[in-house]
Amino acid sequence: LGGGALPAGCTALPCCLHPELKATIIEITGLYKPGVDDRTVKPPGTTKNSGYVAGYISSDDKGRIFTNRGLDGKWSKDKQYIELTVHIDVTPTACPLPPGTKVKWTIEDPDDPTNEPSSVHPDTGRLLDPNDYTGAVKTGANANDNNPRGKATAIAHLEEVEPKYALSGSETLVDPATLRSVVRFHVSDVTADNYRVKAQGVHPDVTVSTPAQTGIMTVWDRIEIEYVKMLSASELPVDQIAPHYDLACVQVDVSEKREVGGSADMPQMDTTDALAYAACDAYSRSAGGQFSHEGQGGWFFMASANRFMPARTAAILYEGNAEANGDRVRLPAGVVLSGIPKVVRVFNPARIGGIAPPKPNDYDIHIKFTITARSGRNLILQPHDFHAVDNPDHSFLDADLSHYGFTAGATIPIQVMSAGDEALVTAGISPGGADVGGKHYFGGKLLIFTKTLVGSQVIKTLCHELCHAFDNAHKCGNWDWENKTVRTSCCMNYWFQFVLDDASPRAPILWTQNRQSAGMCGPHIVSIRDYHLEDNPGLGW
Ligand SMILES: [Zn+2]
Ligand SMILES: [Zn+2]
Repeated sequence: LGGGALPAGCTALPCCLHPELKATIIEITGLYKPGVDDRTVKPPGTTKNSGYVAGYISSDDKGRIFTNRGLDGKWSKDKQYIELTVHIDVTPTACPLPPGTKVKWTIEDPDDPTNEPSSVHPDTGRLLDPNDYTGAVKTGANANDNNPRGKATAIAHLEEVEPKYALSGSETLVDPATLRSVVRFHVSDVTADNYRVKAQGVHPDVTVSTPAQTGIMTVWDRIEIEYVKMLSASELPVDQIAPHYDLACVQVDVSEKREVGGSADMPQMDTTDALAYAACDAYSRSAGGQFSHEGQGGWFFMASANRFMPARTAAILYEGNAEANGDRVRLPAGVVLSGIPKVVRVFNPARIGGIAPPKPNDYDIHIKFTITARSGRNLILQPHDFHAVDNPDHSFLDADLSHYGFTAGATIPIQVMSAGDEALVTAGISPGGADVGGKHYFGGKLLIFTKTLVGSQVIKTLCHELCHAFDNAHKCGNWDWENKTVRTSCCMNYWFQFVLDDASPRAPILWTQNRQSAGMCGPHIVSIRDYHLEDNPGLGW
């Protein structure tokens, strides 16, 4: 200091030699606050589940940093980062910033809090956040748990933004003109990894320096859906989708909606399985179809359609007892079927007392199998296949009547159904994708057939097909993530299959059919957290 008056707050000259510093984080770009739709135009039937808010530093611990996005929120493959601006106040206020003052940045890895609520079943909790558990028992809420399964391909690090904020080690220069410093912070690329960043002014002459810190900021994926609704099909519950992907830390935004008529509004996709599948594939392409964003990073396709194939009504061809025999049902001698048998319903003997024939199509009291062939009195059944979440091509269990608790020769109450039974009716489909090296990769496309679904079946089917879009196999046989007295099962199950236990090998838990929710199981959730959609050949991003 030169001569003249002392700075305000100064009682003796040396005070400016040892000023106090106080840091304030004033801006984080690339960080999004959930529950904020920051679009200027919000078309009906669309959603956006987080937005940019000036000055938001995740004080609510809910801030999202998106994978594969630039600071403007647009797709940017393999980029996931924010920029933090800190302001340094000097006290006494009239003192200049000591030349060469820097900001020291500290990165913390807080506990993953998603397994903490009592609503999360411990079996799911210890998949989400394994370092909180000793065996099956929750023993803590421990920090330093990012990248729990080692699937991250990006490493958190700081980057210099411009020379006036020069980065050396974990410190950046403060610009004396603005009293600010800025740093770019790159995060990992598996979702649910989380961070807290601290900033503190540092200078050799400064002894008192108050740091600032962000709240917890978490890595999320963000998916945009192009939603196409056939004019004569029903509206899909777009506003119900996002919460089911919160535990996976994926923000699912229905960004565009378009209603289509004319030849794009089809009563059914086609008249045979093969033709209908081909029509779904064609419908969900950009060339000649409706998916205008096909192949563009971050975009999925979802269509509300009417039917996969024309409606048919199933008839009961036989009702009564039969003999279980592994993968076949043996009809009593003399039974004449009045049509071609396609499905066998097998009733729970404990649940049909007093029910007069014909027994109702009540999902709580029966399971069912597709009939693949008939040999005299024997109806050959297609076993129920169960799959690891990452293996759509090979099942780990093909369960027949013997796995389901019916010993060979046991008498079972059945109905034999003709074609048209809803077990054979496709309610949703995930066309497209790619087969590479003997593995199928799903393609981020789903069609929901609204004329074949009622009530809560719509959101369950939608969540099932959407889970496929994240390149997951179905029929996991798992309970969902939720902890409750009567458990529900993962949306990826088919209603007419049983849930499996956790023994080795896994076995069906009898009469646990028809328990699916719209939620996912722990293995499907962590599969989505760890997955690198940007590398999926089925998507071509
Ligand atoms: Zn499926
Ligand atoms: Zn599952």
